Amino acid sequence: MTEVKDKIRILIAEDDLVSRLMLVSAIQKWGYEPIAVDNGKDALEILAGAYPPLLTILDWVMPEMDGIDVVRTVRKNYGNTLTYIIMLTTKTEKEEVIEGLEAGADDYIRKSFDVDELWARIRVGLRTAQLQKDLIEMQKVLEYEAVHDTLTGCLNRRGILERLKEELERSERTGEPLCVAMCDLDHFKKINDTYGHQTGDDVLKGFVQIVRSQLRQYDQIGRLGGEEFLIIIPNIMESYAQNTLERLNKIVYDTEIITCTEKIKITVSIGGIIVKEKANIDNIIKLVDEALYTAKEKGRNQVCFYGVK
Ligand code: GH3
Ligand code: MG
Ligand code: MG
Ligand code: MG
Repeated sequence: MTEVKDKIRILIAEDDLVSRLMLVSAIQKWGYEPIAVDNGKDALEILAGAYPPLLTILDWVMPEMDGIDVVRTVRKNYGNTLTYIIMLTTKTEKEEVIEGLEAGADDYIRKSFDVDELWARIRVGLRTAQLQKDLIEMQKVLEYEAVHDTLTGCLNRRGILERLKEELERSERTGEPLCVAMCDLDHFKKINDTYGHQTGDDVLKGFVQIVRSQLRQYDQIGRLGGEEFLIIIPNIMESYAQNTLERLNKIVYDTEIITCTEKIKITVSIGGIIVKEKANIDNIIKLVDEALYTAKEKGRNQVCFYGVK
């Protein structure tokens, strides 16, 4: 409990020394970590930085830059900054309070406030900010899961097809050739039938690891479904692409995959294509599928390129 609390940082931007020291000592007493500055410019620098505090107490009138300008700038230019802002004000006019809230402050408290009231408002603020932070985290997880395969950790069908679309557009724009390959594990059903589904799952994971070890940073693998995968190798010359896929085919053949039951050797059939001009995604999928079919027909455990006999 204290461990988590200790990590919560609260920014105090207040030019009045007495008030600032009072705030610092209160925040320390409550177990948070105060970061104190005496002007708006320094406050903005911290809020725009890589580690903005979860909560900010911002004086309205300050040298260099007023609190209200700090709020406006943070909300306008640093939209990703997640900080709950409480404005400190001596102003009692309703319009000015509204101005502060409209600028993007979350709450305000009038000076000569009661410490217990400040404490209560800080807790509300931290609760709100933490909730928002959790939601953003959750959204990131959901976004990741939407395009990744839970079993193997590589892109899923949606993820890899999105990438393919992007890469086809990029290749068309830059004129750089692109290699696309469809891989299907050979006689995979037999592995499930012989050793069980769990072993089959381990083989799928192992296959993705082997492929990853052979790819460059910008190459991509994604699972289209079942034991079928798509590989995208951007900006590669035809002969290199052929070598890469041949090497991959051989390494899969040579590697023993460690599973929950036994060490298993598999083979893979690969259909590839080199895209050199404007191409439609459905057409590319159809053509690599045809090349893969040829590889299966010719006896499996081999690479066939579309248009290459
Ligand atoms: P081929 O060489 O013609 O590709 O034969 P195959 O046995 O690999 O192909 P088939 O399409 O007959 O069988 C694919 C098998 O993959 C059937 C299915 O039960 C299995 N499979 C699909 N998804 C998964 C999975 O997530 N885990 C496991 N363990 N098996 C899966
Ligand atoms: Mg002031
Ligand atoms: Mg198969
Ligand atoms: Mg299949």
